[in-house]
Amino acid sequence: MFSVELTVLGSSGGCASPGNPASGYLITHHHTTIWCDAGPGTFMALMEIMDPGDVDAIVVSHVHTDHCADVIAFYGYMAYGPSGTISVPVYLPEGAIEPMAAFVRAEGEHAFYLALDFRTVGGGDEAVIGDIAMSFASTHHSVPTIATRFVAGGRSLAYSADTGPGGGFPDLARGADVVLCEATGIGDRGLQSYEYHLNAAEAGALGAASGNGRLILTHVSPTVDARLAVAEAAVTYGSEPELAVPGLTVTV
Ligand SMILES: [Zn+2]
Ligand SMILES: [Zn+2]
Repeated sequence: MFSVELTVLGSSGGCASPGNPASGYLITHHHTTIWCDAGPGTFMALMEIMDPGDVDAIVVSHVHTDHCADVIAFYGYMAYGPSGTISVPVYLPEGAIEPMAAFVRAEGEHAFYLALDFRTVGGGDEAVIGDIAMSFASTHHSVPTIATRFVAGGRSLAYSADTGPGGGFPDLARGADVVLCEATGIGDRGLQSYEYHLNAAEAGALGAASGNGRLILTHVSPTVDARLAVAEAAVTYGSEPELAVPGLTVTV
């Protein structure tokens, strides 16, 4: 039986920070590798552990640069690098293609569209890449955003992407073996809280509500002490959650 592996390329919330790229993860099972979120620095981290030409698909949760910027880096490598032009599927929500295409001035038969096979998805949509099935949910965020549940070999991983309280992620995460959940801030939710992100206590509660899932906190802001985030999430989760750090590999 082949295991499902999650590898953290980067987990810094909002922007890359010293020693930690922004959001990016590899999900692998058997012969299939999916790169989920392409924040700044994650392509560099990916290149350190695999040939980018072996990426089977990319998921871009939304068009905020801390989740999508390295799609541009990947495009440059694929279109003009040693792998040649191999069209790689890129799953992303509505409204995400145009800003990236504008950045590289892609029009018509531009190599951007030859190297990347864009597939727009939304809440309730499903897709299969090789050995891994994916289902998507729309999250409560400031731009269209998709959370993804990856299922392979009878195991499941639910990734929140960016989300505030509510949205489609709580349902998507229910019963998942691993819940990879954003916890951008700490402290109680108050007037100063950002509507479109979770605090650590909310991430902990979401992990507890999802069932027996193993909770991994991610997207902690570099302005926050991650140890406090883990401690605050532990109160609502019921035990200490793990923290996504670069290079962490988890068997789902
Ligand atoms: Zn973000
Ligand atoms: Zn965002």
